[in-house]
Amino acid sequence: MFRVLEDSASAGSPRGDRLPRRPLLRARLGARRFGVVLVGCAALAGLYGGALLYAGRTDRQLFGAVFNRAHTQERVLALTFDDGPREPDTRLLLDALDRAHVRATFFMVGGAIERNPELAREVVRRGHQVGNHSYSHARMLFVSTAFCRDEIARTDALLRTAGAMGPIHFRAPYGQKLWSLPWVLAEMDRLDVLSSIAIRDYDRPGTDRIVSEVLRQMHPGAVVALHDGGGERDQTVAAVEQLIPALRAQGYRFLTIDELRALDRRGQP
Ligand SMILES: [Zn+2]
Repeated sequence: MFRVLEDSASAGSPRGDRLPRRPLLRARLGARRFGVVLVGCAALAGLYGGALLYAGRTDRQLFGAVFNRAHTQERVLALTFDDGPREPDTRLLLDALDRAHVRATFFMVGGAIERNPELAREVVRRGHQVGNHSYSHARMLFVSTAFCRDEIARTDALLRTAGAMGPIHFRAPYGQKLWSLPWVLAEMDRLDVLSSIAIRDYDRPGTDRIVSEVLRQMHPGAVVALHDGGGERDQTVAAVEQLIPALRAQGYRFLTIDELRALDRRGQP
């Protein structure tokens, strides 16, 4: 304030040597303003980055319940498959799981169920658990609660038509959620099932790589996220055929998500 007054006074001064003060002050104020904007931008970028990091966490969200593993010492795990159903990989996977007497959990996308209603029915008929993985597989970060409700309700209806009984759990597309999706899930009393082992099998890294990565990261109570839809998944199907005997040899049993949840010792003495 004093500086501004002094500057106004000096501006009217006939003394030439004092004239450059005004542009100098302007520059100083400009630099300060620039600094404030810079700090503001950095804070916003930090907040945004922090929000995205939080959005991708598999063990917590702002509202409602998340399940991403069972806290147990028992050698048990759940195989989960996302983004299907899709021909021919879901069907080949069902055959492989049948041959090995393994039941898994399929988080289906509503749009994919509409394209393959018979295959969705087949997954339920063969005794696997099914879950809701949204209708359009949109990233549900900066979306409205109405959008979330619509995505969930449309896919619920399709899953019920396919024969799904009991509670239908949800899995956030890309495992990402901020406030609106958790809010709606909590409001609907729905569990968000994420994972403790997520292999980027959708990048088609090769069957051996998928197998070795799952084995490397395996732990008691694991929820493994793989993909039977969203693109060609022959590598994933082949990997599952190798993983089942390899994990059984280590003493692991395969459970559905609800069976695995029943063994979760978190909060118990
Ligand atoms: Zn997905």
